[in-house]
Amino acid sequence: MHRGYWKIKILSILENKDPKHSCRVFFKEYAKCDSFDNNMAEIFNASIVEHIFKSITIILEDIFHSVMIGVALNKNVAYRLDQPTFPMILRKLEKGKNQSRWWQACPGGNGKYDVKHGSVGFVVDILDKTCTCGAWLLSGIPCCYALAVMREEN
Ligand SMILES: [Zn+2]
Repeated sequence: MHRGYWKIKILSILENKDPKHSCRVFFKEYAKCDSFDNNMAEIFNASIVEHIFKSITIILEDIFHSVMIGVALNKNVAYRLDQPTFPMILRKLEKGKNQSRWWQACPGGNGKYDVKHGSVGFVVDILDKTCTCGAWLLSGIPCCYALAVMREEN
């Protein structure tokens, strides 16, 4: 099979899919999750591979215990943190802070800012914690444009 075949095949598969499940523009804002591929199904399938020859009740009990152990391990990690924010969030904020240095924030009143770089711009409402790029609302983590505003305010 050549590359063109797979390109056409993938396009035909995507045409039949509802974009609500794969386009961030359709994601609900209340979830505060901008990921559409978190590998949860793959992780779950890998965890049950060793149990596939057992009866269904044993499999369900094993899954229940492995989920409980996973939750307990994650709680222990969270309790041992010496800061209120998870390291991955801090890394995202640091990356956004680095990207924000290219953006200029101009106050527009009532907490609104016009954030521009050349001819490209976004409107950040620092009071509503929103940005026209949509990333802040979707993930709950300030985007680089909002961080440019925060830098300007300080
Ligand atoms: Zn934004």
